[in-house]
Amino acid sequence: MTEPIVSIRGVSKKFPGGIIAVDNVHVDIAQNEFFALLGPSGCGKTTLLRMISGLETPTEGQIMIGGEDMALTPPNKRPTNMVFQSYAVFPHMTVEDNVAYGLRVTGVAADETTRRTAEALEMVKLSHLAKRKPDQMSGGQRQRVALARALVKRPKVLLLDEPLSALDAKLRDDMRMELTRLQETVGITFIIVTHDQDEALSMASRIAVMDKGAVQQIATPSELYEQPTTRFVADFIGKVNLIDAKVLSTTAKAITCEAKGLGKMSVPTNKSCGDTVAIAVRPEKLKLSVSKPADAKLLAIAGKVRDVAYYGDTSHVVVSASDGLDLQINVQNDTRTGGSGVERGQKIWVSWAPDDSIVLTE
Ligand code: ATP
Repeated sequence: MTEPIVSIRGVSKKFPGGIIAVDNVHVDIAQNEFFALLGPSGCGKTTLLRMISGLETPTEGQIMIGGEDMALTPPNKRPTNMVFQSYAVFPHMTVEDNVAYGLRVTGVAADETTRRTAEALEMVKLSHLAKRKPDQMSGGQRQRVALARALVKRPKVLLLDEPLSALDAKLRDDMRMELTRLQETVGITFIIVTHDQDEALSMASRIAVMDKGAVQQIATPSELYEQPTTRFVADFIGKVNLIDAKVLSTTAKAITCEAKGLGKMSVPTNKSCGDTVAIAVRPEKLKLSVSKPADAKLLAIAGKVRDVAYYGDTSHVVVSASDGLDLQINVQNDTRTGGSGVERGQKIWVSWAPDDSIVLTE
């Protein structure tokens, strides 16, 4: 990575009462990235974002923005701007005045204010509503006003705290695409906080997954999904089957292990493993067949269909295998008839390629 625009170095935040909200976090965020802080409620993502903005002070560690230590820089002097969950806009002012406000109070000349306000409204596609008041607008439009208010200040880094959570599902989908487009157009680094995996996966170029104040993994969306490094990440991002296995032997490229119901199997990995591991397999990587697959290279297990849920494009099937192992399988309903082609109680085989197994040591 070239010089990061934001560098978070060993940052912790302790609140009174022994609460460790953020625990020794290291993250470098590159210029022009769309970066997401993702994790369950209470994992410390908002506190981390607030420390970047200067609204909260780290107990330990250093935050650098644009190569400068921010320790003594107050929020209004930082090259950042924040868009809050409850889009803070003034209801009594027109859209235009809302956007111009931040420039007027800092003494930017009138003609420059007019020009930059028009530019910001153009970016969020609100020029035609410049004279409206926010209470005559939809939630999505109000959110755009809040975005324009932040962008007009030309921050190097835009911080977005759950910006879509107040919108309904359909609008949220539209705004996701809008935000991605906007980030590409304005070329500003975006850091978004979200607890919604789909939101992070669909918008961000990289994601830091947090749990209990600590960063578990930083990776691109597809790496997080296909190569999670911990059980927490595998389980938090999408659906997953986690199968406990005992390690029998290891080489540099694979392990031989014994898993419940699956017997002895060889799984590719270059990780150094202890005595036990978890084998993770995504539901769409599993295949169903009425008889044992002929291909001996596949991992296969016999079971009985316990549940079938139909979702239109896919069906979600749960198979109870021997030794009490339950497996989740996603089946593509790729013809108009037949659905998943299986029914509850049916005897079935579940199989997958060894390469589709992820070995997890933590
Ligand atoms: P959410 O998605 O629910 O907003 P989060 O991941 O953003 O959660 P934070 O808001 O950063 O989590 O909170 C992390 C932890 O720190 C939580 O246990 C929270 O209760 C605690 N916390 C946050 N702010 C304060 C504060 N001002 N004083 C004391 N504890 C706090």
